[in-house]
Formats: sequence, structure tokens, C-alpha cells
Amino acid sequence: MTYAVKECFLTLQGEGMQSGSRAVFLRFAGCNLWSGRGQDRATAQCRFCDTDFVGTDGEGGGKFGTAEALANQVERLWGDGSERRLVVITGGEPMLQLDSALVDALHERGFRIAVETNGTIAATPGIDWICVSPKAGTTVVQRSGDELKLVWPQDRIEPAELESWAFDHFMVQPMDCAEREAAVEAAVRLAMERPKWRLSLQAHKVVGLA
Ligand code: SF4
Repeated sequence: MTYAVKECFLTLQGEGMQSGSRAVFLRFAGCNLWSGRGQDRATAQCRFCDTDFVGTDGEGGGKFGTAEALANQVERLWGDGSERRLVVITGGEPMLQLDSALVDALHERGFRIAVETNGTIAATPGIDWICVSPKAGTTVVQRSGDELKLVWPQDRIEPAELESWAFDHFMVQPMDCAEREAAVEAAVRLAMERPKWRLSLQAHKVVGLA
């Protein structure tokens, strides 16, 4: 298959349990919950997206004809050294494109594969770290994994109901929106009231990384 990649670059993971880890970020183009176009946002299933995932014109982006070609790009960006190789695959919605051929090609090059998904499509087997970020009003089928990341606040999501899902870590992250202060307050309140949840901040934005 041909993989459509919005951007691919070396950085530090900014969010969640692996925050601060050196990683190649691979952002696939396209999402199943929003077209990415401003005129469609009001009618989209997911309306608070802070990411440009349209097209293949970002840094390191493009169309890749094989899993090997894309895995080679990831390896090239990592550079020398085989220790703690990590690729964070996101989007858009990565499960639209991440198949077992790419999982195998990345593993052959020694990468641990972390994924950030909205959970509406079952995760491809073999992924090493599954982070699900549920969106209100959608049906989440991927209810197990390593990390559940709740962007907060969201109407029509009840954190208590998510706590029965099979994740090792429950993270609450303030929504990056115009009412940011209120979102931070709400996220702090949730973590204080429900000890299962830990506060996740977007460290890459604090230090000015992409
Ligand atoms: S599911 Fe994720 S990538 Fe898709 S529109 Fe929502 S926030 Fe953006």
C-alpha cells in the first residue's frame, strides 16, 4: 500500500507517560472523525482538533510506496545508535494506515512502536505502546492498552465510566483551546478528585518543540 505521511521528524515526545523521550514522530495524513477542513469542523464528530493532518506537505512528509521505504525514513531520522529506538505514530488517525507490514519493518530496524489513536479502529497487532484518546460521541472499540489519554473537558464523556477500561495509565490533559485556563483547572480538579488519573501537560509546547 502507499502510505500518506503528513510529517515525520525527530523530536521529544511531549505528552503522556513517555513525555521527554527522544522519538521519531510519524504523523499520518487523514482522520476518520474530521476532514481537517475548517468548513467541516462544526459538523465533524471530533471538533477540538489542534493538529494539521491534511496532505503530505509537512517536514519529512510525502507518499511512501512500501513499508520498507517508510521504515527507512524513520531510521534515517533517528540517526546512528540502536539504543531505545522509539517511533511515535500519530495522525490524523494512524489506524487508517498502520498495517502489519509497517509494524514488522519498524521492528526489524529495532524500533519500539508507540501509537496515539482515537480508538475507533482496533489496533494492529504487535504495537508496543497503545495510547487511546477517546472523543465524545464516538464508539471506542480499542478499550485496552497502555495509556488512556483524556483531553478534558469534553461534554458527554464520563471519566468514571472509562476507569473500567483495561489501561495501565489514565492521563487527563487540558484541552488546548481558547478557554485554556478553565481547561487546566478542570483537568487539575479531575486528577485531584479521582486518583486514578494523572495530569498530563504538553511539554513540547512549553519548551517550543514541534
Ligand atoms: S480524532 Fe484526533 S486527529 Fe482526528 S480530528 Fe480528533 S483530535 Fe484530530
